Amino acid sequence: MTEEERKELADLLFPNLEHDRDYYEKLYPERELDDNCMVTRYGPSPTGSVHLGNLFSAFCDMIYARQSRGVFYLRIEDTDQKRMIDGGIENITGVLHGFNILPNEGYSFSGEYGPYKQSDRTEIYQAYVKDLIIKGLAYPCFMSEDEQNAIKEEQAINKVKIGIYGHYAVDRDLSIDEVREKLDNGEEYVIRLKSPGNSKNTIEFVDCIKGKIKFPEHDVDTVLLKKDKTPTYHLAHAIDDHLMHTTHVIRGDEWVSSLPLHYQLFQILDFKPVKYAHIAPITIKDQETGTIRKLSKRKDPWAGVKFYEEGGIPIDALHLYLATIANTNFEEWYLKNQDKKIEDFTFTFEKMAIGGTSFDEAKFNNICKTYFSRKTGEEVYFETLEFAKKYDQEYASILEENKLDMIKFLSIEKDGARPRKDIAKYSDVKEEFSYAIDSMFKKEKYSKLDTEKVYDIDLVLDYVNNYLNLDVSNEEWFNGVRDFASDNGYATSPKEYKNNSELYKGHVGDICEAIRVMITGRKQSPDLFSIMKILGKARILERIELYSNK
Ligand code: GLU
Repeated sequence: MTEEERKELADLLFPNLEHDRDYYEKLYPERELDDNCMVTRYGPSPTGSVHLGNLFSAFCDMIYARQSRGVFYLRIEDTDQKRMIDGGIENITGVLHGFNILPNEGYSFSGEYGPYKQSDRTEIYQAYVKDLIIKGLAYPCFMSEDEQNAIKEEQAINKVKIGIYGHYAVDRDLSIDEVREKLDNGEEYVIRLKSPGNSKNTIEFVDCIKGKIKFPEHDVDTVLLKKDKTPTYHLAHAIDDHLMHTTHVIRGDEWVSSLPLHYQLFQILDFKPVKYAHIAPITIKDQETGTIRKLSKRKDPWAGVKFYEEGGIPIDALHLYLATIANTNFEEWYLKNQDKKIEDFTFTFEKMAIGGTSFDEAKFNNICKTYFSRKTGEEVYFETLEFAKKYDQEYASILEENKLDMIKFLSIEKDGARPRKDIAKYSDVKEEFSYAIDSMFKKEKYSKLDTEKVYDIDLVLDYVNNYLNLDVSNEEWFNGVRDFASDNGYATSPKEYKNNSELYKGHVGDICEAIRVMITGRKQSPDLFSIMKILGKARILERIELYSNK
């Protein structure tokens, strides 16, 4: 076709477009940002519930934009209307708000590069495709489903690449008259890319995470606009990333295989290339088979984001975990730097895992525990209360009734270089600190004990009634227990007992254990003296009495 004919064809196919490519180029000018600012986007398709992998990808978009003082925006990629689910979009924005992964602009946020939902941008895509038709880089293809299926079958039998390319692309060189005739006959068509590529050529490409990737040049006439003239994802995302001035496309590595096409689209559309960072999926060791597989919403509770919310994982702790899997050196840095926040760390693509990032439950718990250990007792109290108000109202009332005590218990062993690490999630507080609440202690009593060992009540009663002084320092208190131990035939240290066990009934630790068991119902607890101080003598004696009636 001559240039004139191509123009005629473009007008035949798009007679009513209000604006052309140039208009949109001017409408969305370059962003006024410094050179090293990153513009990232989270481009979810509302086709299912959000999972941890999606959240991770949005988290990466956020941190890289934030640390470079750039822009992180949300774009809804709803080109596949058939796969949309009810409430899918609200679910996405709800999750971003709920997990505090907040874009600076985008769908449901403000911004000057919108609309940020692809289904609201159809005319924009059409204007660019019209331009491609004029340039001879796209064409209408009238092939029926049946014809295409026949080609597919033939290709499968001959074990050649599936798709419309080379001699399969029969409508590539239709004349203007042939097109007009088909249009007059009301034949349906899609618009295909007239791929200028040759698969014998190799393209070398540098991914920010994966490094050099080589692939054969794209040579398939991929569909750009579907029969209803709405775009395919491939076309839409390229135009959007260009017009919204994305600098870094951070997305799951299931998209690596589409790179040849995306690379070519950017070239033929004459767009400045973006940088790509393809993130490896979050994997897990399958309990049954022992093999490493992708995290699955069906099999792994922690794949779905509800798990974190309902399980009482603090948002900030989840952020810490996402940061841990984002950069391999983050965890060590965080554990070393007591007073630092995620924002103080510099993330780099080089430190992102190239293969799968494995979900490690132990690591996850450890990060959560570290998070809690750095919170004051008061902070833990109020955050737990908030959580309980939503998910466990009965416990929320208990917390409110016992506020002062609870804060004191939650504050035990918080000072010092190695604060206590006992809680990994809000729901652990109820369990871990059940002894802090009289009513819960009474109900639960000694169910946490793993032995049938019987402790000497009279000895403990004698100690508490006649020797326990709560108005001293921890050290003075312990010296007092030692004296008491010694006066009652117990060694004053485990070592002394070990060396001459025949001389003693036990050692000072056994007496402490007896007290601990009677007043907390468990063998392990935070610092015993601190617990006793908060309880006071009367409550301690009450509990010993409960033990004697157990
Ligand atoms: N809409 C695509 C998805 O949900 C995202 C692809 C991209 O980020 O380029 O998987």
